[in-house]
Amino acid sequence: MKWVLVTGGSRGIGAAIARLAVARGYAVAVNYRRRAEEAEKLVAELGGAAVALPADLSRESEVVRLFAQLDKLGPLCGLVNNAGILERQSDILGMDEGRLQRVFATNVFGPILCCREAVRRMSTQGGGAIVNISSIAARLGSPGEYVDYAASKGALDTFTIGLAREVASRGIRVNGVRPGVIHTEIHASGGEAGRAERLGPGAPLGRSGQPEEIAGAVLWLLSEEASYTTGAILDVSGGR
Ligand code: NDP
Repeated sequence: MKWVLVTGGSRGIGAAIARLAVARGYAVAVNYRRRAEEAEKLVAELGGAAVALPADLSRESEVVRLFAQLDKLGPLCGLVNNAGILERQSDILGMDEGRLQRVFATNVFGPILCCREAVRRMSTQGGGAIVNISSIAARLGSPGEYVDYAASKGALDTFTIGLAREVASRGIRVNGVRPGVIHTEIHASGGEAGRAERLGPGAPLGRSGQPEEIAGAVLWLLSEEASYTTGAILDVSGGR
């Protein structure tokens, strides 16, 4: 079985990626942080080719533990660093060190540590593919809402470019996807549940996106069809 780990795969964009990955014949490890019920429900829907694995990826010890669990399943051919958070909409005056630590630990440190563990394994297995889920915020900056989140995604993009060049000779491709505004619960965690509805008409395509529209791009980057693509960051943002 070809295993793919989708971090934060229990809901939102990650769940859409997990569903499409199973449909394309992968076995999927669905990581989540806290909401076990949703992860278990998704795994039941996906059938035998999926498992739910809890781990808070902002903590190195939990990253290491998660990959040790994956080792028992079989070789890892793909990693999708999808888990990400933002905090309440605020200008910079409302941001303190604790918030910055939380945002960067989940959005930057977690993906980097997961990549380290994946590269360690993929290097000895003849290669693999990694996709880092960034955000169009890395280009737009998210003024007045969450410049910290945008900066964390900018860091992730730079990491994607560097790691792609570093591990290309080991047969590992590393790419990024920058979603635009997508209908998920992440906006509620920022304090505006209706944000996707509000911003949709302002996108060149005239609407916000659906999680499935991100999943298609991710599955392409994971696949052999993207065999000559590495270090690329694909905007899937309705033209923003
Ligand atoms: P959601 O808030 O809907 O889901 C987040 C997922 O990540 C959940 O499965 C959650 O698990 C998990 N998660 C959060 N923190 C951690 C952690 N520390 N360790 C492990 N898992 C964690 O988010 P979206 O689906 O909207 O976003 C997915 C990715 O796409 C993020 O990286 C986000 O930044 C990015 N993105 C989203 C956009 C959007 O408009 N929705 C736009 C651009 C980028 P649990 O359920 O247990 O809490």
